[in-house]
Amino acid sequence: MSQLSFDTLKLHAGYNPAEHNHAVSVPIYQTTAFTLETVKRSDDLFYFDSAESLYTRLSNPTTDVLDARLTALHPGATGAVTLSSGMAAVTYALLNVTAGKGRILATARSYGGTFDSFEQIFGDTSVQYDIVENPDDPSDFEKRIQDDTKVIFIESITNPNATILDIEAIANIAHKHGIPLIVDNTVATPYLLNPFEFGADVVVYSATKGLTGHGNVIAGAILENGKFNWKNGKFPQFDGKPHFLVSQQGVPRSFYDVFPETPFTGRIRAIHLNYLGGAIAPFNSYLVLLGIETLSERISKSVQSAEKIVEFLESREDVAWVNHPHAKKSPYKALAAKYFPKGAGAILSFGLKKNDRETIIKFLEAVKVFSFQANIGDAKSLIINPATTTHIELSDSIKKLADIHSDTIRLSIGLEDVNDLIADLTQAFEAIR
Ligand SMILES: *Cc1c(COP(=O)(O)O)cnc(C)c1O
Repeated sequence: MSQLSFDTLKLHAGYNPAEHNHAVSVPIYQTTAFTLETVKRSDDLFYFDSAESLYTRLSNPTTDVLDARLTALHPGATGAVTLSSGMAAVTYALLNVTAGKGRILATARSYGGTFDSFEQIFGDTSVQYDIVENPDDPSDFEKRIQDDTKVIFIESITNPNATILDIEAIANIAHKHGIPLIVDNTVATPYLLNPFEFGADVVVYSATKGLTGHGNVIAGAILENGKFNWKNGKFPQFDGKPHFLVSQQGVPRSFYDVFPETPFTGRIRAIHLNYLGGAIAPFNSYLVLLGIETLSERISKSVQSAEKIVEFLESREDVAWVNHPHAKKSPYKALAAKYFPKGAGAILSFGLKKNDRETIIKFLEAVKVFSFQANIGDAKSLIINPATTTHIELSDSIKKLADIHSDTIRLSIGLEDVNDLIADLTQAFEAIR
């Protein structure tokens, strides 16, 4: 299957109808457990010697198809674990790499919940975090790496300002220091970017957003490419031989022994998914699979419309600035050409010249086609003021570093007729005159 192209894989990868009563649409296995039948089969399942399903908190045949499909959509990936939310994906990936110790190196441009988890979740452990002040300069990452830094965590296209970081340069720095690069690729989706191609070791998603694309599900995913050397001395958690990994013959085994190609997601499945329990419901896995069937068509249309809306906003007298790599004065043109030849996503931000609070409120409430809500990547177009909503968790100094201000308005462009979207914004501009 892997020689097939992206648009074919997104419809077929990981699913063989003959193994599922010839069902054309991936069946929803709405079951808690799976019968063990024989003690031999039971032993194989409980000792990790069979990949079949045992209990839906750990795996489920509907979700297995999703894991396999996501893996196929990321050439180079060796495995995936799908979870109940994007936040589960972010925190499980960081819990796995830090194992209670060391430092996370990240940027102020992270998703608000991700950023806040550094204090509210990892603050309860010995894990600390450092923030790169100027992520546009890869050497700033290197300057902040300390002896006990365990990971660099970045987003490939940031929200709300659609900045692009130099993934390859940052990956090289991480690897020089023996640490992995985790990339949150939510805004880009695998249609626009495969971060493994540029050195990412682990990729995380909120599948809630563009990946599923219909504003009807909360889901997340973690993928790995099996290349990072977790045995370099900094990550003893992968070398340990916990009692639950012992073989049927009683021989102690490490995560590498049990999951040779997927030690990172294997450990997450065996520990974080198993004991923290953020399992995705089979019905939600089905919805994500359905969304992925039209990923390319949805993202390419929304990106084209976003570019038209950037041009429209730049032509308006009442607009002070527009942030998106397609904007005329964007400093991200070269990075966009390298990483995003198909377009740099459908999220953009802008500011009004008349930027008092009352005018912004009037504008947000004047739109009729755009929906005022806290989500991105929906088939419907969305609008919001991030400073007091989606990014409210960030302190004032971090907001400033992230370039998020009280007058920042974010748009997430969906699939409506772009002329209707432009007309909707036009009448909102008239309303604030
Ligand atoms: C939404 C989002 C998350 C969190 O995902 P949920 O599915 O809402 O839990 C993480 N990262 C990014 C970039 C996001 O946009």
